Amino acid sequence: METLRLFQDETIREILERYRVIWALGHASSIMGWDSETYMPKQGYRDRAIASSELSTLSKKLMTDPEMLRLIDKAEEKLEDLNDFEKGVVRILRRGVRIYTQLPDDLIREIAKTRQEARVKWADAKIKDDFEIFRPMLEKVVNLSIQVAEHLGYEDNRYDALLDLFEEGLTYEKARNNITYVAGELKKIFDEVYNGDEYPSQHELEKVEYDREAMEKVNKEILSMVGYPWDRARLDVSLHPFTMAAGLDDVRITTRYEGNDFRRTMYSVLHEFGHALYDLQVDPQLRYTPLEGGASLGIHESQSRFWENIVGRSREFTEVVKPILDEYLGFTKDYRVEDLYRYFNIVRPGLIRVDADELTYDFHIVIRMEIENMLVNERLKVSEAPEVWNDMMEKYLGIRPKRYSEGILQDIHWSIGMMGYFPTYSLGNILASQILEAFKREKGDIANYIIEKDFKTIREFLREKIHRYGGTYDPATLIRMATGEDINPRYYIQHLREKFLGQ
Ligand code: MG
Repeated sequence: METLRLFQDETIREILERYRVIWALGHASSIMGWDSETYMPKQGYRDRAIASSELSTLSKKLMTDPEMLRLIDKAEEKLEDLNDFEKGVVRILRRGVRIYTQLPDDLIREIAKTRQEARVKWADAKIKDDFEIFRPMLEKVVNLSIQVAEHLGYEDNRYDALLDLFEEGLTYEKARNNITYVAGELKKIFDEVYNGDEYPSQHELEKVEYDREAMEKVNKEILSMVGYPWDRARLDVSLHPFTMAAGLDDVRITTRYEGNDFRRTMYSVLHEFGHALYDLQVDPQLRYTPLEGGASLGIHESQSRFWENIVGRSREFTEVVKPILDEYLGFTKDYRVEDLYRYFNIVRPGLIRVDADELTYDFHIVIRMEIENMLVNERLKVSEAPEVWNDMMEKYLGIRPKRYSEGILQDIHWSIGMMGYFPTYSLGNILASQILEAFKREKGDIANYIIEKDFKTIREFLREKIHRYGGTYDPATLIRMATGEDINPRYYIQHLREKFLGQ
């Protein structure tokens, strides 16, 4: 089997053989998850919930099986003799097992139960615009998150334990040094751009309705242009766009069609393409191993942001995409490339994170990160959080939500227990520019490749530096290897300064 060439050690081979069953369960769960967001009949959700939870229980059982634990211990004892890929296997499994074994079963059950309940309450609260409906649930989620952190352990800050769950090695201090710094710098750029007249704060194309079938063709043409392999990947429709990787040759993305403002569906497709490409370009020798996934959520997000913003929102991309738009949508023929470019790069303060442009997105993350940190450290009461949220919106964006549904109730994350997830979005933004800088050093200006539609060179660069390793290295190591230094937010600020202010 080709996989085994990279894995010579006997213990690792034994581990991987056992792991194949866990991989298969993950494969099935992924397809089931994708199906429930796309084609499953509505009433199928009860059976699907039971089937999914049975599979994950089984997976946990296999991961924490005494023989598996013995093998991981054994491999760890001879860690120095292992190659990087073998070490990666041990690192990832140790991490998974640690999380599984340090959290007591009744806490995990309580979290699963609270998630179900909280998600329903959150949806209801959002529709009725009533924070009180969700408040008791959010209190419970915060309380459970505190318990999780206490069981997992941390050095200085309780929030660190939660951050590490989503981004290996991330601490509040590191997140702050990057994200809060970025927000401060972005504020200066944003104020200047918003008060200037080069980038509009609205555009008439936002209102123009499109024909859905025509837009589906546009999305498919764009994906073909950037190199989406249709025999290993799909595009479907779901309420919220996402990427699912069931294996290295079965990766699926989704988008949605709002009916107007066509850039929304177009950029969601480019975003998910970035995630998909990561999964598609992992070294085939890592198939069926714990290394098949990416290095982290932050690195994954850097790949989606790379294609969405750095490639997709450039002038050159606007130029090469225009013929596709003109052919299928027609109405874009009335607009010059420069008009379209401005439409793709509207800058304005908005209340909603998922609608935010490049210059305002990270403000939304800082707000969530600071509130999470205060909540889990018990320095803020849940009942006070909406006010803090609104005050911070005013500080960064100069606007104040009038409704909870446009403020603290807008995102699903907390209702499904994901406290500590948001910072990975901003890390993705920061890393995307750092990777662009590395590209520039090796290949020159990326604009030259985009205008020539030479997306292969870009894809190959990302494969070589990031994708092929899968989860072999922890995120900090991978970034150092790919770019020659630790995460550095300077490139992100520099990129946005150049793009929006020409300096
Ligand atoms: Mg994403």
